[in-house]
Amino acid sequence: MAHPKNSGWRASVFTLMPEMFPGPLGLSLSGDALQRSVWALETIDIRDQGLGKHRTVDDTPAGGGAGMVIRADVLAASLDAHVAADDARPRFLMSPRGKPLTQARVRELAQGPGAIIVCGRFEGVDQRVIDGRGLEEISIGDYVLSGGEIAAMVLIDACVRLLPGVMGKLESGAEESFENGLLEYPHYTRPREWEGRGIPDILLSGNHAKIAQWRRREALRLTRERRPDLIKPPLQDK
Ligand code: SAH
Repeated sequence: MAHPKNSGWRASVFTLMPEMFPGPLGLSLSGDALQRSVWALETIDIRDQGLGKHRTVDDTPAGGGAGMVIRADVLAASLDAHVAADDARPRFLMSPRGKPLTQARVRELAQGPGAIIVCGRFEGVDQRVIDGRGLEEISIGDYVLSGGEIAAMVLIDACVRLLPGVMGKLESGAEESFENGLLEYPHYTRPREWEGRGIPDILLSGNHAKIAQWRRREALRLTRERRPDLIKPPLQDK
């Protein structure tokens, strides 16, 4: 099989923990694709631009309080040293304050040239570098991680699996959860009976129209039960 290779999709990750990469991105679908150069990954150690003998990257928060904040000057120096002014890739800061990542956004990003991703640590990063370098904050969910690296991996993994030549079957992306605004229908495989549980008869009928109809109904039922917010627009406060 001919692989459409080198989509040109490129991720540049700014991090204080470069040894976390490629991590899980180096395995399975994304790892195979990385090896085949379908996409490329560059990790930049923000500490290379750290200050002084100790390569300091953070300092105490202005106004007081717990924790440390990544310095604007250090992070900006790191970005400026590695991102060309004409780089067309979107620039993100992984952040629980950001816009929640969605499959629609992932699909859009996968069709673009890649992503520049800053991983926060400690309490986060100085607001001035977010503003000054036009970083868009992106969240992977309403909970707090200890650093942006795992969040960056989530973003990259979701994009990379959609690149041409990464998933086995081209169509296996199209029917999945969220792609049509619904959760996916349930799957079954062999054995035909397991611990007294069968497979819905319709799936064994060979009637493709009926099967498609059953799947659509199941997708609707599951979405209504579990994620009614995906169907109804959420109630607005007046
Ligand atoms: N003090 C911050 C949390 C800092 S957590 C706050 O209350 O908003 C440290 C870093 O982990 C963040 O800078 C961010 O890069 C990353 N992070 C934590 N939770 C995240 C999430 N839900 N989505 C994306 N990144 C997250």
